[in-house]
Amino acid sequence: MTLSRSDFDQYMVPNYAPAAFVPVRGAGSRVWDQAGREYVDFAGGIAVNSLGHCHPALVSALTAQANTLWHVSNVFTNEPALALAQKIVNATFADRVFFCNSGAEANEAALKLARRAAIERHGAQKHKVLSALNSFHGRTFFTVCVGGQPKYSDGFGPKPAGIEYYEYNNLASLEALIDDETACVIVEPIQGEGGVTPASREFLQGVRRLCDQHQAFLIFDEVQSGVGRTGSLYAYMDYGVTPDILSSAKGLGGGFPVGAMLTTADLAKHLAVGTHGTTYGGNPLACAVAGAVFDVVNSPEVLAGVKHKHQQIVDAIAAINARVGVFKEVRGMGLLIGAELKDEYAGQAREILALSALEGLMVLMAGPNVIRFAPSLVIADADITEGFARFERALAAFAGK
Ligand SMILES: *Cc1c(COP(=O)(O)O)cnc(C)c1O
Repeated sequence: MTLSRSDFDQYMVPNYAPAAFVPVRGAGSRVWDQAGREYVDFAGGIAVNSLGHCHPALVSALTAQANTLWHVSNVFTNEPALALAQKIVNATFADRVFFCNSGAEANEAALKLARRAAIERHGAQKHKVLSALNSFHGRTFFTVCVGGQPKYSDGFGPKPAGIEYYEYNNLASLEALIDDETACVIVEPIQGEGGVTPASREFLQGVRRLCDQHQAFLIFDEVQSGVGRTGSLYAYMDYGVTPDILSSAKGLGGGFPVGAMLTTADLAKHLAVGTHGTTYGGNPLACAVAGAVFDVVNSPEVLAGVKHKHQQIVDAIAAINARVGVFKEVRGMGLLIGAELKDEYAGQAREILALSALEGLMVLMAGPNVIRFAPSLVIADADITEGFARFERALAAFAGK
């Protein structure tokens, strides 16, 4: 007998509330459910499926590696991991890469490296982590406590000490907290889960300057904004502000779980043999797929395409909104776009998701008031057009127009 959504409550821990339908197959930016209904995918697995579903280059990399070598652990290195690290180093500020399996793990590594390096260089008092209110950095206990949303970290007992919160896009609030005990400042160039809010250039430049003044390391959490999502390989390139440490995951594997922490040779020294690790990190299957993602995404055509599609989508939302009038602001960069509901519709993003699904469209929310779009970086024009036709029908049903 086919299992269905109702079996979720029977067998799974109830920490998620999945949609009523169960996807079974995907191709490009279309997905089909158990009943054969077809959906346009503007959700992209939460900014993960950077090249859509079952992209031929990724299927080919995965199947070739599946017939070659799956896993050896970090007692040995492997060719796909070395090749991926080389590509990342050649294309970014980084000289060294640490592989892991998720965004939270990439941030965990970033934060541990920053604290370790600061303490080794300056002494035990230099351990403070400064993080933005409303930020999201993952769900391990350290990363969820660093995240600036107490609703995710409360209720699990004593929290790690030495974490303080500044206001995003408010340099004065960071300036008031940063001091000689600050080990690092962590920031998302675009707050994703927090509502798709880009940092201003002046803010990130100011954060860099304050970090330099106080010998604090700057960590960019690019788990959501990285790997072509903004139309540059990483968002730091759009801003012209270079971090000391960068975390990457989500789009990096295009749907295969993989994460990476990028840093300089000078900092990397502080994670000497035995100081950190993970069994699966740098797994050959994951790195083979991520290498293929990287080659496709890091091309002028794909990156320029992201900026072009950004404008198409922003224009489409504006045209629909002129008719249905539910959004007060559209913001974001590249193919990470948020549309914030007018105050009279506050808290109703989840209903729009459900109505969109009924029309054959997968979209996301980013908090209760923001509809988030994070489609494939290579989504076809026809899929954008069809998806927004469906979105308009969903919004018309929502607003009763
Ligand atoms: C999703 C996300 C994470 C956590 O990634 P996981 O793979 O879910 O652990 C961390 N930081 C940001 C900015 C994210 O968007």
